[in-house]
Amino acid sequence: MVDVVRKDIFKGASDGGHPVGYVLLRKCAPDERNDYLEQVRVFSGVDDMRGWDDYCSWRIVDKQVFDAIEDGDVGFYTRNGALRVLLSRKANHNTLLVTERCDNLCLFCSQPPKKEEDDWLLVQSALAIAAFQAPMLIGISGGEPLLYGQRFVKFIDSVSELSPATSLHVLTNGRAFSDKDYASEVAKRCADGKICFGIPLYSLNSDIHDHLVGSEGAFHETVKGLINAGNLGVPVELRIIPTKKNFSELSSVVEFACRVFSSVSQISIMNLEPTGWAKLNWGTLYVSPESYSSELRKCIVNGDKGGVPIVLYNYPLCHLDEGLRGRAVKSISDWKNYYPEECGDCSLKKQCGGFFSSSKGRTHHKPRKIL
Ligand code: SF4
Repeated sequence: MVDVVRKDIFKGASDGGHPVGYVLLRKCAPDERNDYLEQVRVFSGVDDMRGWDDYCSWRIVDKQVFDAIEDGDVGFYTRNGALRVLLSRKANHNTLLVTERCDNLCLFCSQPPKKEEDDWLLVQSALAIAAFQAPMLIGISGGEPLLYGQRFVKFIDSVSELSPATSLHVLTNGRAFSDKDYASEVAKRCADGKICFGIPLYSLNSDIHDHLVGSEGAFHETVKGLINAGNLGVPVELRIIPTKKNFSELSSVVEFACRVFSSVSQISIMNLEPTGWAKLNWGTLYVSPESYSSELRKCIVNGDKGGVPIVLYNYPLCHLDEGLRGRAVKSISDWKNYYPEECGDCSLKKQCGGFFSSSKGRTHHKPRKIL
């Protein structure tokens, strides 16, 4: 196991009993009632249990958990008593998975889809956000969240009613927006600027896009969806993952997006995450950033011309040309982010996003520390 920046899973974190599912974690007595989830009081040691009263039905004594959380964080208890901190006030990003179903089968999917109905995840996610009550951006991912159709629209309404300070960033393949009526329903919920949709377009060649997302006809629906979203004012962050199949046309995708889609606020180019099916298909997909540096530079030129910023996600700075490093952001979520030993005295460590912890093994890329 590698040391991640923020540990989020705690095994055996219970004291004789625990609920199963989403819970609100308490370190002190709350000022206001919060009945959206079961509450679990966390103590750092038995000597600290003086304040114990009955506002929580459950309690645990666990110093590691106590030190890792803030009062009011949201966790998930598995049946065997492992606790995962899902929404954390200390985290650099928080994301909730609202479904494992999807109408794409991307060759690099980090969360390979399942077929079973799992709409309880959507309901519990709305309650988790309501319980968390934080003025923060929360990522919503899947699977494909918009497969819920009208139920997803209701989810947006619930979040805005129950936790008005929360903003949402929704990862979607955008195909649902090819239905203009549906895109228009969602657009009505976007006026307050509290929601943005991350939509990937991998190629201008429909065969290549459809091959990468494992679904014939996906390109046409996604492009139509992006056009509808743009015309109706749904805010979009466009995403591109370079692979061996599409790295030579990155700058053309950027130019096309700037010319054709009217509500793209950012284009994110994302280094492949070595997990799920991406790990399985690594040899046929992964291409090192050094091989497409010139394409990245052209992307920046095209983005600047079109007035859309180009941002580079998931790149260790030492694997990027010096001129590109200013576009890289620390994008890896802290619970899956690590810095190998060699990074210890690198002069760029503070600005650098490091590596995915899942890159250990055959997908590891050696850090080249910069002194
Ligand atoms: S050596 Fe480590 S900290 Fe330095 S740039 Fe590379 S990955 Fe980042």
